[in-house]
Amino acid sequence: MIKERTFLAIKPDGVQRGYIAEIIGRFEKKGFKLVGLKQLIPSKQLAQDHYGVHRERPFFKDLVEFISSGPVVAMIWEGEGVILSARKLIGPTKPLDAEPGTIRGDLAIDIGRNIIHGSDGEETAKFEINLWFDKHEICDWETSDSEWRSEN
Ligand code: UDP
Ligand code: MG
Repeated sequence: MIKERTFLAIKPDGVQRGYIAEIIGRFEKKGFKLVGLKQLIPSKQLAQDHYGVHRERPFFKDLVEFISSGPVVAMIWEGEGVILSARKLIGPTKPLDAEPGTIRGDLAIDIGRNIIHGSDGEETAKFEINLWFDKHEICDWETSDSEWRSEN
């Protein structure tokens, strides 16, 4: 079975507000596996490539500037259904529309400062993982309880 992976990034506001552990904890508690993790200040180019689909949108310039303004925690998470499940745990783009219990619902109020990015589908996940990570930065490992996890 091919293992599903998604790309998640704690944006500069999440890092500045001290939510790295809180956010990583939510995905660990859910049962997903962390296979890539690094902190970096993204270049403008990386931010533009990452948000390339939004190139024509009015918020693009501010978005790129913000994402490249400070440290981001880039992550790859693995597990059955992780792409959609991570989007559910994150909540809708507008934090005021996000239900309590979701990351954006609990921790944010502003659409431009919504704490975290998550890939929105299989193709995007592949693209974003390749964009942010080199192959050698990805850590393939098995949890000791992997035999009773359904993805194995
Ligand atoms: N964004 C914004 N204004 C908008 C729409 C989006 O500032 O009107 C920002 C917001 O931070 C969002 C990011 O652009 O997370 C990417 O937008 P997208 O629609 O892909 O939302 P996401 O996938 O992050 O929920
Ligand atoms: Mg998106």
